[in-house]
Parts: sequence; C-alpha cells; structure tokens
Amino acid sequence: MAKPSVLRGAKPTGVSASAAETALPLRLLAWYDRHRRHLPWRAEAGHSAEPYRVWLSEIMLQQTTVPTVAGHYDRFIARFPRVEVLAAASLDDVLHAWQGLGYYARARNLHRAAQAIMTQHGGVLPADAEALRALPGVGDYTVAAIRAIAFGQKANVVDGNVERVMARLFAVETPLPKAKPDLKRLAATMVPDKRPGDYAQALMDLGATVCTPRAPGCLACPWAEACAGRKAGIAGDLPRRAPAKEKPRRYGTVFWLERADGAVLLRRRAEEGLLGGMIEVPSTPWGPTPPDQASTQSHAPAKAIWRPLPGVVAHGFTHFDLELTVMTARLAGGQAPVGLWSTPAEFDRHAFPTLTRKVIRHVRGASPGGRKNQAILRAHSG
Ligand code: SF4
Repeated sequence: MAKPSVLRGAKPTGVSASAAETALPLRLLAWYDRHRRHLPWRAEAGHSAEPYRVWLSEIMLQQTTVPTVAGHYDRFIARFPRVEVLAAASLDDVLHAWQGLGYYARARNLHRAAQAIMTQHGGVLPADAEALRALPGVGDYTVAAIRAIAFGQKANVVDGNVERVMARLFAVETPLPKAKPDLKRLAATMVPDKRPGDYAQALMDLGATVCTPRAPGCLACPWAEACAGRKAGIAGDLPRRAPAKEKPRRYGTVFWLERADGAVLLRRRAEEGLLGGMIEVPSTPWGPTPPDQASTQSHAPAKAIWRPLPGVVAHGFTHFDLELTVMTARLAGGQAPVGLWSTPAEFDRHAFPTLTRKVIRHVRGASPGGRKNQAILRAHSG
C-alpha cells in the first residue's frame, strides 16, 4: 500500500476523507457534464447506453486507441447492428470487418461470445458479473466497464488511464506494476453510488484529455485543488514504472510461391494461439535463431528455385519481436501444392493481419517495377 503520509496528503485541506470521496466524484461528474467527449458508441447525455454497443466498443478499445476505434466502429455496427446478426455471421465476415483493428483474437472471441449470448442468454447481454466474465474475451476490466456503463451498476473500472490518474491524485510513488493493487483500491474508494457509469466515462475522459501521460493539464482539472501529485510537483513523473524488460526476438523464413497464373500460395493458421485462424504466407516455425538451410528447405512448400529477397520484414508482437526473411519462387507449371491459392486481385477479400500485409508489401516493394525495396517495415499492431 502507498505510504499513509502520502495518502493523507491527497485529501483536500480541511475536507474529511469521506467528504473527499463524495466531493471529488461530484466535481468530476460536473466537469463531465460540460466537457464529455462525443464518441460514436457513447449514449448522449440523459440517454441509456445500449449494452451491445457498450460491449462491442469495450472489446474494440481493449488494445486499440480511441481514434482508431472511432474510424472503424460505425462501419462494424452498420454491418452487425445487433448481437443476433453478429452471431449468425461467418467468422470470415467478422474477421474481415475487424481489419485495421489488430489483435484478431478479440474478433474471434466477440463472435463466439455473440453466439453464447444467443444460445445461453436469449440474445440479451447479461448484467451479472459472473455471466459476463464467462463470455469469451471478457476480462475483469470489461466486466466492470459493461456493468457500470451499460447497466448503471457500481463497478470499479480501472485501466492504465485510471491508474495514472490515481497515482497522481494520491501521489503513489510505488512503481507499476507493483502499485496496481493499491491503485485499484484507491480507485474503488472514489466510485459514487449515483451515476457510476458516467463517473467511469468521466474518469476515462479526464485521463484522455486532461491528465494525459506526458503533460497533465492541471489548470483545467476539476481535481487540481485536491491532487497530491500536483502539490508535490511530481505529477508528470507519475506513475513510476519498473524498468522494462527487453523483448525476445524470433526469426523465421516465409515462402512466397507464385503459380504461372500469378496466384500466390497462402494458408490459414491454427484456430488457437497467436493470429489464430488468420491467413498468412507459409513459413518455417519462428525460433530464437534464424532457421538454417536444412530447416528452411524442409519447410519450403514446393521444390523450386527459391531466391531470398534483400532485407527483412520486422514486426512487433506484445511479447516478442519477429524478423522474417522472404524467399520467393515461381512454379513453371506441373504440380502445384495443395493449399489456399489466391491471386493478388483476390487479396482484398481476405482478412489479412498486419504481418501478412507487411510480407505482401515487402514482396511488392522488391518486385521489378514495384516500389523501391522497403528493407524493413516496422509497426506494432496485431
Ligand atoms: Fe492529473 Fe493534474 Fe488533475 Fe492531478 S491535478 S489529477 S495531475 S491533471
């Protein structure tokens, strides 16, 4: 737990702890009524939120920024306006609509959860915490967010933004991730009985627009008077973080095989695991060292004259960085291996993850008449 002296310093001078717990949420709600963000999934003031929209937006926002989700949400909701439409859709359709949002496991879980809502809950998103937690892809944070925003229940909605605001408000100097339980407990003391959904969204807005990661805008903050981090002059340095561990690196070789008609050999990854069910260019397994010649040959999908392209495709996953070498070959005719053959004109129909799109760009960049070879393409999305 954070130092008691620091916590005491967090309370506004002359205001008791219980009054602070009442006064600060009220102040934040008053600020929210004037400054709330207008987001496509958010109910307007005075209107009830639609649970399906809340659930969908919370899944989309799990690992994706608000501007990116805002750019995709309306299109997704137009295609799948109700949970029964989502449940009845094919997984390919859902994955296709999810393109650009990354972390495709969320789309697969969303689809499975929609089917569970239809079969187990009569097509109605449950309001109960345990029933929500049993849905695929719904963790503690999402349970709390849905309970508060969609059903008006008193729930403690704590993500990285809220942790940052709490660390500053209470001047918690314990580094993350060790401070997480303390920050969650502190956040819980603030949740009001009335308007808990608005309070959760107000806190999100405060973290996104005022108490921002690099430069907290304390002058515009409804909690400035009470904020211990601001008073101590350390708000911008909070939350403190334990030094990040370096991510491991993995290596592999992908095989770009073209048929005489220009079609390219693709394959679908296993349903479970990283990029589960997504379409990719065949490759060796990804290991801690670059694959040797024997391993490369044994995983090549066909006997052909394989040529390496200059440069590599680099991609950052959450837990490791990946570096892929690309080999290309063209089948002169004869027997083509069985697989998912697709012409470039058909590529748009597939829900390619970012990694596959990078491989395609790399090959196109290296092809005669293509753009100048892009040796390394870097990005950090799924
Ligand atoms: Fe954040 Fe500043 Fe508000 Fe404190 S006063 S909560 S540091 S914006």
